[in-house]
Amino acid sequence: MWLPIILAICTVSPAGCSCRGCRAQHVASAGPTRTAFRSDALSDNFRVRSYDARCSADAVAKAAEAQRSHLYWHWQDADRPAEWTLPCEIVVHASRGSYLAAVGRGGERSFGSSWLDIRQGKCCGRRIDLLADSQGRLTALPHELTHVVVSDMLKGRTAPRWLDEGIAMLADSPEKQALHAKDLAAARSAGLSFRASELLSLEAYPAPSRIPAFYGQSAALTSFLARRGKPSQLLEFAELTIERGPDQALRAVYDIDGIPALEREWLSQTTQQDSYLLARARP
Ligand SMILES: [Zn+2]
Repeated sequence: MWLPIILAICTVSPAGCSCRGCRAQHVASAGPTRTAFRSDALSDNFRVRSYDARCSADAVAKAAEAQRSHLYWHWQDADRPAEWTLPCEIVVHASRGSYLAAVGRGGERSFGSSWLDIRQGKCCGRRIDLLADSQGRLTALPHELTHVVVSDMLKGRTAPRWLDEGIAMLADSPEKQALHAKDLAAARSAGLSFRASELLSLEAYPAPSRIPAFYGQSAALTSFLARRGKPSQLLEFAELTIERGPDQALRAVYDIDGIPALEREWLSQTTQQDSYLLARARP
């Protein structure tokens, strides 16, 4: 009986996505397949199970704690963020098959997935599924952890898709950000890019043909706004966007006169060589 309840929640309030590092939906009850190796660790905010012998649970928990602290410091200027009363579960899978059994369709090319169970603004569950790359690195952890932390900062409310992904992508590695920039350049050449008004009003992920443009432009626009002020203003912008819509949020937080003015300013500063890397945002 538990599985259908979780799936129903996921369809309306997922932190997962379908980018290079994420997925579309999450099947929370599926566990890893039987494997010889397992290590466990419990830290202040994380409960880690690793089935990959290259990744000790203790090391993953330490990295996750450090990255969590960094994210609160960067986005909220919080030196000592409050501990989560409900730890975030992290599962490091031993194989692609085990990972896919847990995260479901959409995870075929990804290495990380996050899931949140939000009920009436209260977080009742947090989970991140990870798969190490060929070199044993958990490259998706910063991105997925950002989704989880940002949801907590917004008190369980969901930021607009482009902004939720944009903030998470600022935590990606330079190599991955470069791939998004390349995808964006290709999408622009093919005439598949979004106007700012279109991007800001998206309520769901776009058609597959426009996914590369969606991620590339979401990262570029998020970076553009983040550079205009303090990082904490971006979270303020997200909150106001949820409460009053993007037009009012742009005026109140960034002194930009609505979406048409954003379009003009953004395009005047955007080229195919966009560099939206914000080193300080990366744990
Ligand atoms: Zn994502």
